[in-house]
Amino acid sequence: MSSTPVTDSKAQGQQPPLKSYRGNCHCGSFIFTILVPEIVSVESCNCSICRKKGYLWVILDTNQGHKLEVVRAIQELKIWDLEVKEFDGKSIGPPYQPAPFDGLEPKAEVENGVVYHGSCHCGAVKVAVKTKGPLDKTFKEKVMECNCSICQRGGCIWTYPTSPSQISFSAGSRENLTSYACLKKVMCKTFCKNCGVPLTNETNEAMTEEIIRATMSDPEMVLRWRNVVWPINLRCLDLCPSDESWSFEEKVKELTIEKGDGWGMVKPGYVNP
Ligand SMILES: [Zn+2]
Ligand SMILES: [Zn+2]
Repeated sequence: MSSTPVTDSKAQGQQPPLKSYRGNCHCGSFIFTILVPEIVSVESCNCSICRKKGYLWVILDTNQGHKLEVVRAIQELKIWDLEVKEFDGKSIGPPYQPAPFDGLEPKAEVENGVVYHGSCHCGAVKVAVKTKGPLDKTFKEKVMECNCSICQRGGCIWTYPTSPSQISFSAGSRENLTSYACLKKVMCKTFCKNCGVPLTNETNEAMTEEIIRATMSDPEMVLRWRNVVWPINLRCLDLCPSDESWSFEEKVKELTIEKGDGWGMVKPGYVNP
């Protein structure tokens, strides 16, 4: 997360009234308050790091390029209600070179299976996924963004392979993943130890059925869900070996992306620190 000075002394006095927003990382180690004009729009940049992290920027001063990347961590902010302005960061500087996938392709037998390669931003974690059909406007499988406390912060666009063998990592990649256990520690959101890009949502094997039944208000739903789907964040995908014309920027916007109300559904809910 980068930040720039919130106040611009030159423009003080001409600014719209400031509003205070409180935000935090998911675990609550980092809590902040910002004082900015009311946030009604954000900027979405298509550069490689902003795309892979799902960053949304608040523009404080267009002329001076002051931006804040904290929108997803602000408490009570309904980010789906905000106007999103596109910023073509991809055209600035040399093009991003995706890390070439050098692992074994996913072994799963999948009807109309199409393999995609991707990675975190730094390339320490390289992954391949075989989806049921191409990731374009014809894709029929579930794709979802979720507004739960952790998915909103991660900016993930999930799709849901139904077998772990639809996903493969290159050698050494799993060692470069770390994870954060959430949803009463039932699930682990994995991300690159180095660059932080979220990759998958995995079952926390330490959480037994007994613990889940004792701690969750809807244990059946949790138990049904885990070991049925192996969610992967589409934001990590860079290319399709069987279709050179495929690109994240062009094709993921063609997908029908559900907006899942994880915030409302997950009980007991997340408590803002
Ligand atoms: Zn944290
Ligand atoms: Zn990385």
